Amino acid sequence: MAHSSPIEWTESTWNPVTGCTKISPGCKNCYAKRMAERLRLMGQPNYANGFELTLQPRALELPLRWKKPQRIFVNSMSDLFHDDVPLDFIHKVFSVMERASWHQFQVLTKRAERLAELSASLLWTPNIWMGVSVENAAYTNRIDFLRLTGASVKFLSIEPLLGPVGVLDLRDIDWVIVGGESGPGARELKRAWVTDIRRQCRAAKVAFFFKQWGGVNKKRTGRTLDGRTYDEMPIVSTTQTARSLPVLA
Ligand code: SF4
Repeated sequence: MAHSSPIEWTESTWNPVTGCTKISPGCKNCYAKRMAERLRLMGQPNYANGFELTLQPRALELPLRWKKPQRIFVNSMSDLFHDDVPLDFIHKVFSVMERASWHQFQVLTKRAERLAELSASLLWTPNIWMGVSVENAAYTNRIDFLRLTGASVKFLSIEPLLGPVGVLDLRDIDWVIVGGESGPGARELKRAWVTDIRRQCRAAKVAFFFKQWGGVNKKRTGRTLDGRTYDEMPIVSTTQTARSLPVLA
């Protein structure tokens, strides 16, 4: 059975790698770290090392057993392009994504430079959506590295949004997710930062997904913006090649 996910923009999670190390300000209150430590205390075998980076070869083939087609967030508890994940293991993950062609895989990284370096050696089947995280204007260069990859669907996760992002180069980008930080110690999200990104997505005809305002109690703050939700997704054709026009929710 697939691991269903409460994350609004996906359906399931698959973690062939667990654990990570912090790399930029967006990592400060990392949810995966908190969760990994909790799972270790609960005695979950995959988290015996807590948040230390650990390959999970036994989890590799799981999506092949999930018969129902779904969107799968790859490594919600890690970062596939972390320096400590060997290239050979990344190739194995890509091989599973190729063979499990009935699913759509959403891979997200903050290690955009390594992603770009390795891209030519990876098989980018059309069911692989590749994204980079951007938390503020200082990290928009990750988008340039993403553009260098062969992924047919490219997306940005601008979460936790920690400051204005400035002018975004959205050429060749299909989808933008925006959200505020949630949980203990959540940092402030300003409405103007969100509406500026929405405006830029509209101008570039890029699908815009507003995930949450966040805060200490994210259920209370919700996810409506100007009285509605934004759940736009990239258009994926039957051959799963992305087009640039968004599906309006
Ligand atoms: S890259 Fe992601 S998983 Fe790794 S520490 Fe940062 S927020 Fe957590």
